[in-house]
Amino acid sequence: MMRKPIIAGNWKMFKTFEEAIQFVDAVQDKLPTNDKVDAVVCAPALYLPTLVQVASESELAIGAQTMHFENEGAFTGEISPAQLASVDVDYVILGHSERREYYNETDEAINKKVAAALAHNIVPIICCGETLEEREAGTTEQKVAGQIKAALAGFDAQQVEHMVIAYEPIWAIGTGKTATADDANQVCGAIRAVIEELYNAETANAVRIQYGGSVKPDNIQELLTKEHIDGAFSGWSKLTARILLNIIGGG
Ligand code: PGA
Repeated sequence: MMRKPIIAGNWKMFKTFEEAIQFVDAVQDKLPTNDKVDAVVCAPALYLPTLVQVASESELAIGAQTMHFENEGAFTGEISPAQLASVDVDYVILGHSERREYYNETDEAINKKVAAALAHNIVPIICCGETLEEREAGTTEQKVAGQIKAALAGFDAQQVEHMVIAYEPIWAIGTGKTATADDANQVCGAIRAVIEELYNAETANAVRIQYGGSVKPDNIQELLTKEHIDGAFSGWSKLTARILLNIIGGG
């Protein structure tokens, strides 16, 4: 099965409103029109409704960087799946290592968030990845398999095949150190094997698995030649439109 590559840019807590609009304008104008790649920009929640409108005529999709699993409630500062859906957000990043580390996002919460995203037709981008200590101890695949099994608990094959998984070794995020394409492919392959074990080969072949962690214009091509890597997830260097376009292949 041919999986369509998906490139996502994660702005994290960068960019003013004006910079955000300029970025989206620049990217959508130069997106490859051959329908060969899905492109997503994951922006701060504050900008989402405006960016959805700015990008409404193009193929560029807009995503959120996190969300709560409840639709409403007394959760000061949080944003709900129903709220994201009400402004037509297409994707949401769940379980980014920064959320897991700084905001105590647990595997259990991520599983609930995946369910909430699906209930609102928002595609979850589920992040997983190991620390440097775990890599050096040889427990990378065990760690990632545990995160994926926890995130997918309770979903059926049809739900899972539309999800996106981002494999992001924590030691590679924002450090300039990229996993080698072969190492990244090996872990993405191990994730696919976990999905096959949980469901079946067809589902495992349908799920798109991105690599993230210091992805740059000069390493994306090699990463994308690998069997199990279906795209990239990048926050690199306060991500500029030019870098994202270079990674997508449009600039
Ligand atoms: P990076 O970030 O591209 O700066 O390494 C990736 C990420 O946020 O996951």
